[in-house]
Amino acid sequence: GHGSLPYERSAPDKLLGGLLPGGFDEKSCRSRYESSIYRRNPGRQPSPHLIAKLRKHEELQRRCGPNTDAYTRAIQQLRAGKSVVGSPECKYLVSISYRGLGNRILAAASAFLYALLTDRVLLVDPSNDMDSLFCEPFPGTTWLLPRGDGFPLPGYADFSIDTPESYGNLLKNKVLRNDDDVDPSSSQQVPAFAYVHLDHDYGDDDKMFFCADDQRVLSRVPWLVMRTDLYTAPGLFLVESFREELDALFPERDAVFHHLGRYLFHPTNRVWGLVTRYYRAYLSRPGTRLGVQVRAFDAWQANSPHVLQQITSCLWKEKLLPEVLPAAATSSTEEHTTALRAETTVLMTSLRAWYSERIREMYWERGAASGEGVSVHQPSHDEHQQLGTESHEAKAWAEMYLLSLCDALVTSGWSTFGYVAQGLGGMNPWVMYRPLNITEVPDPPCGRDVSMEPCFHSPPVYDCKLKRGADTGKMLPHVRHCEDVSWGLKLV
Ligand code: GDP
Repeated sequence: GHGSLPYERSAPDKLLGGLLPGGFDEKSCRSRYESSIYRRNPGRQPSPHLIAKLRKHEELQRRCGPNTDAYTRAIQQLRAGKSVVGSPECKYLVSISYRGLGNRILAAASAFLYALLTDRVLLVDPSNDMDSLFCEPFPGTTWLLPRGDGFPLPGYADFSIDTPESYGNLLKNKVLRNDDDVDPSSSQQVPAFAYVHLDHDYGDDDKMFFCADDQRVLSRVPWLVMRTDLYTAPGLFLVESFREELDALFPERDAVFHHLGRYLFHPTNRVWGLVTRYYRAYLSRPGTRLGVQVRAFDAWQANSPHVLQQITSCLWKEKLLPEVLPAAATSSTEEHTTALRAETTVLMTSLRAWYSERIREMYWERGAASGEGVSVHQPSHDEHQQLGTESHEAKAWAEMYLLSLCDALVTSGWSTFGYVAQGLGGMNPWVMYRPLNITEVPDPPCGRDVSMEPCFHSPPVYDCKLKRGADTGKMLPHVRHCEDVSWGLKLV
């Protein structure tokens, strides 16, 4: 029965306003259609153009994806390494999965947006648990690059800034040209594949990716392999030839990741079990749910009184939690107001247990001055970041998702983990600014972010038309610098 379901709405919008396709087997991926039951905030509505584009793209993925004749032909061409003249039948984008889960999610979302804009089939590298954490987003096909020796670029996962086939190196070595005097429709021979290096360490030639002339060259390369650990969507808005389509797809520019994320990333049943069991056990009582994500980037942040002070002053200053009574006082109002008292449930996530233990203790030992009930919960504390440990990654994904189900969110600046939660949840978070040293408490401790979008941490700083350096945060009204990473770019 539905009696114990956490949040009851008469008819939860299972397909999120048409964002999600129907027709999946619901049992094979319960989160896809159940998430709306757990979310109080229904989120933003996708534009009709986005919905139409997604349905068209799903059709492309089915027509050209793995286990089709078109795919077999494309693989044969790639294996032969032939240069291509004219337009290929199907074009592909392979997205490498590496680094932390937040980074991998932002990378896959960025790759998908690029695939949408360029009519490429997206194939996600299945390593690092991408196949066991997420359900298939496209009906009737797979978004995973098939494992095994079928893929003719066996070393793709090690491609780096030095790979000769990177777009930057192809330009530098004049294998490809992007200058004005090359007619884009000309028969300039293009290779069967190119590697697009959009990693945080990328160079000026790689960054030419964000120019329209270069996109014209790349559009003729049938296979692209992309490595990024960044959220590059704000950079795609800088590409003049993409702008009109992006504006039509996303009339609300601050909801790009919100839509892409809810479309693509559905926890598998195993992870969904972690989400729903925790939710029912700890987060389903009435009252407000506050998510607090504490990312300890450095060892000294494991149990720093200064970081603790930053967290509590942010929560109190912004009135997200009631202040605790001074240590000596006792609350007299408590006993008589039980029935009327407001309750706040705090979900804290962190690699460390120390912060939530201190805050839980404060409210237990001293109580809130308002008499309000505050309960503090933290699902796990694995102490160290681990790569490739499946249970660790499943917990990390479940915790990101649980944060996204809260009513309000406080995040740690710089963290892609927090970006994913805020985007899925459709919330502008309060961002705690990153403390630079052990004894500093940033003042103010936190601030309300201007949008729910992730920050693009290493954007290009180049004007493609004037062909010189420029502040890309000042070129378009809706592409601005981030609150947390001052040189980064975000959509607002
Ligand atoms: P970022 O490094 O903060 O940008 O976020 P990432 O998700 O890319 O990488 C951090 C990794 O550390 C995560 O993928 C998790 O494996 C782990 N991690 C960091 N914070 C938490 C947390 O609050 N809970 C859990 N379970 N894992 C975390």
